[in-house]
Amino acid sequence: MQADFDLVIIGGGCAGLSLGMYLAQLGHTAPQTLLLERRKYYENDRTWCFWGLDQALHTDLASNQWNQFKVQANEQSALIDCAFAPYQMIAAQNFYDHAQGKISKNSRLDLRMNAALLAEPQFIEGRWRIQTQFGEVSAKGVVDTRPLSMTQLKNTKLWQSFLGYELEIQEELFDPEVAVLMDFCEKNAEYIGFNYLLPFSKTRALIEFTVFAERPFYEDELLIELTKAVEKYIPHTDFKIHRTEFGLIPMGLESQVSAKHGAIDKGYVHVGLTAGSARSATGYAFQRIQRWVQECTEAIQANGLPIAPSFDPFLLSTMDSIFLNVLREHPEFGPELFMNLFSKVEPHRLIRFLSDQGHLTDYVAVISALPSTPFIKAIFK
Ligand SMILES: Cc1cc2nc3c(=O)[nH]c(=O)nc-3n(C[C@H](O)[C@H](O)[C@H](O)COP(=O)(O)OP(=O)(O)OC[C@H]3O[C@@H](n4cnc5c(N)ncnc54)[C@H](O)[C@@H]3O)c2cc1C
Repeated sequence: MQADFDLVIIGGGCAGLSLGMYLAQLGHTAPQTLLLERRKYYENDRTWCFWGLDQALHTDLASNQWNQFKVQANEQSALIDCAFAPYQMIAAQNFYDHAQGKISKNSRLDLRMNAALLAEPQFIEGRWRIQTQFGEVSAKGVVDTRPLSMTQLKNTKLWQSFLGYELEIQEELFDPEVAVLMDFCEKNAEYIGFNYLLPFSKTRALIEFTVFAERPFYEDELLIELTKAVEKYIPHTDFKIHRTEFGLIPMGLESQVSAKHGAIDKGYVHVGLTAGSARSATGYAFQRIQRWVQECTEAIQANGLPIAPSFDPFLLSTMDSIFLNVLREHPEFGPELFMNLFSKVEPHRLIRFLSDQGHLTDYVAVISALPSTPFIKAIFK
């Protein structure tokens, strides 16, 4: 195997493959790139959803989309029309296949599966030295997408934990026209819990139970509530589970700042779910990763070195931080706060805001929809 590269990408998940795929399109001007992925093979391990605003990328890979979604708590329910920016879903397997196909077409990129790092990369004489089971390689720049460890994530403000089944039933019980974004469970002083339902057809859907809490929740705890959710939507019905989806997303990371400053000046950047790629207040990362890929590719073309994701604007990161403080301190307010947002803010404003495309007037609309008392207290936390 070749030993010297322009770029090594550690981790071929969403961020690593997205960058690899984009670089592959540069043809013979693409940097010589080695992509190291720990997995032996890709599985359909998740779904990536986002609102299809004009700026959204890879919408052609979406297998499903919904023009309406619902948010409900207790007796209240809001049905939101989002036909102007449908809620779209990409199945991970589609994305992995597509990205691998693009990468394999350019011989300047080399994706190695089942690839382990034998030691942490070292900066020696102006290049990064990386020990792999294929031998030592060197590179001018490194994009590291490995997630931080739980110890490094100990200052996370709020954890988003979820467990879901993609399941199939015989009877036609799902409404494939309407996604259920948040269906809140009873108020709770420890966490905010809600169900999420993506109906793929009248007989097939992804049903998830999600928790926002101070600590991560693991599968065994989530399973009890997921079982209740399944019983709620398809009571007394036999079902076949096609796939299970589990996720832990840190929201509001103090480590984002330090991670970004890793060794940027020497061409080593951290990217991905635990390094600033996820929106603090939602955990959504797919479209943010795609935007970073474009900026990073431009930087590599301009000066040969990758760049980290840019910081969120001050107003946005401050609003997210205050919102997370309120949810952390008062999870019992959660259902009401989300209901206020989805029922009081005009959909195009809220969706732009949630998709990082908000105008100043959208920010004002969001702030106006929230009750002032808990937020004023949270500012001083
Ligand atoms: C189940 C789930 C559902 C999600 N749904 C959405 C959604 O609907 N919308 C949205 O916007 N965001 C969503 N997210 C958040 C985010 O988009 C994803 O987590 C996304 O995959 C993050 O990309 P990443 O590259 O940071 O991490 P990953 O995609 O997890 O990639 C990291 C890669 O690094 C590899 N790796 C780890 N250690 C090593 C090592 N030592 N050497 C080599 N490789 C290594 C891993 O095998 C993995 O392939 C979801 C997250 C999860 C977990």
